[in-house]
Amino acid sequence: MATIHLEELRKVFSVGGTDHVAVDGISLEIPDGSFTTIVGPSGCGKTTTLRMLAGLETPTGGRIRFDDRDVTDLRPQERNVAMVFQSIALYPHMTVRENIGYALKIDGVPKAGRDEKIEEAAETLQITDQLEKMPSELSGGQQQRVALGSAFVQDPDALLLDEPMSDLDAKLKAELRVEVQRLHKELDTTVVYVTHDQTEAMTMSDHVVLLNEGRLEQFAPPTELFDRPTSAYAARFIGTPSTNVFEGTVESGESGPLVKGQGTTVRLPTGALADRVGETVSLGVRPQYVTLDSGEHGLDVTVEVVEPLGTESVVHCRTADGTPFDVVTSDLAGVDPGETVRAGFDTEHLYLFDAGGETVAFGADLAELEGSP
Ligand code: ADP
Ligand code: MG
Repeated sequence: MATIHLEELRKVFSVGGTDHVAVDGISLEIPDGSFTTIVGPSGCGKTTTLRMLAGLETPTGGRIRFDDRDVTDLRPQERNVAMVFQSIALYPHMTVRENIGYALKIDGVPKAGRDEKIEEAAETLQITDQLEKMPSELSGGQQQRVALGSAFVQDPDALLLDEPMSDLDAKLKAELRVEVQRLHKELDTTVVYVTHDQTEAMTMSDHVVLLNEGRLEQFAPPTELFDRPTSAYAARFIGTPSTNVFEGTVESGESGPLVKGQGTTVRLPTGALADRVGETVSLGVRPQYVTLDSGEHGLDVTVEVVEPLGTESVVHCRTADGTPFDVVTSDLAGVDPGETVRAGFDTEHLYLFDAGGETVAFGADLAELEGSP
C-alpha cells in the first residue's frame, strides 16, 4: 500500500515538431488503500497519467512519490505496481495458471509458492475451474479476470487499471465491477482506476479525479462531486442525465444582487456578484431535482422525447430559447411529445456559475441564507 503523490505532473508530446500538452500540471494525493478513479472524456490525459504512475511514460515535469519514496526516475519493475490494460494482454501459448503465475516465475518464486498465490487469486476472481485452460478457450470477461489475476498475485503497492472493462458487454461489465471491488478489498492496496464512464467512477470509487484537457478539474469523493461540483464542466460531466444549464443575468435588486434567467429569480448574498451587474452567468439544476408543476421556480419547457427507464423516465425537453432541459420523473401524466409543461425546482438545488463556468454559489447555501434571520 502507498499514498501516491502527484506534484505538478506534466507530459508534453512532441508530434512532428509541434508540442502537445497531454497532462498539464496535476497535483493531488491519492490516499493509501483507496479506490481512486480518474475520469474524463476521451483524450483528457487519463492513460498518460496512469502510464506515468506505472513508469511506462517519462514525465516532462513534476514528481511522483509513493509515500516518501520518489519514484519519478524508477523503472516500472522497481516501483512495485501492477497494471491491467483495456486490451487484454495474455500469453496465448500458456495456460491460465501459467499466465497468472508468470510474473512470479520471473521473480524466482518456487512452484509451490506460485501455485498457492495463483489459486487464491483464482478463487477471488471465480476462475478456479479455468486454470488449466488456454486463453483462447475463455470469453472476453474471463480473459480479463485472468489479467486481473496476474496483477493480484504480484501483491503490488498500487494496482493501476486502464479501462479494463470497456471492451466487455454490459452484463459482463457489471459482474467484473464487483470482482474488481472484491480484489481491492482482498489485496488491501491502492487502486487507481481509469474510465471515461462517469457511472463507473461514481459507483466504484472512494475518490474521483475529474480531468479536463490535461488539467485537474475536481478531486473529491463521489457524493461531493455530485452535490458540490466546482464548475459547470463537473456538474455536466458527473451525473446522468447531465445537469441542465441555462443562462441568467445579474441584476441589482432592492436588497442586493439577483440572478434572473428563464423565469427564475435567485437572491444572492450581499456582495456576491454585486460588481457584475449586467453580466451573463448560468444556472444549473440536476434533472433529478426537477419536478413537474411544483417548486419555487419554474420554466415552461416543451417535451420532445420520453425515455422510460423502468420505475422512472427521462423526459427530454427544450426551453423557449431552445436550450435542452431534462426532467427525471415517475409521473408521466400529461407528459407527451409536443406538450408544454412547467419544470419546477427549488433554490436549494440550484448551482450558480460565472461566465467562465466556475461555481460561484450553491443553492443549498443560498437557501440557508434566506432562511436565516
Ligand atoms: P485518455 O486516456 O484520457 O483518452 P490519453 O492520455 O491517451 O487520453 O491522451 C491525452 C492526449 O495526449 C491526447 O490528445 C492524445 O492524442 C495525446 N497522446 C497520448 N499519447 C501520445 C503519444 N504517444 N504521442 C503523441 N500524443 C499522444
Ligand atoms: Mg485512455
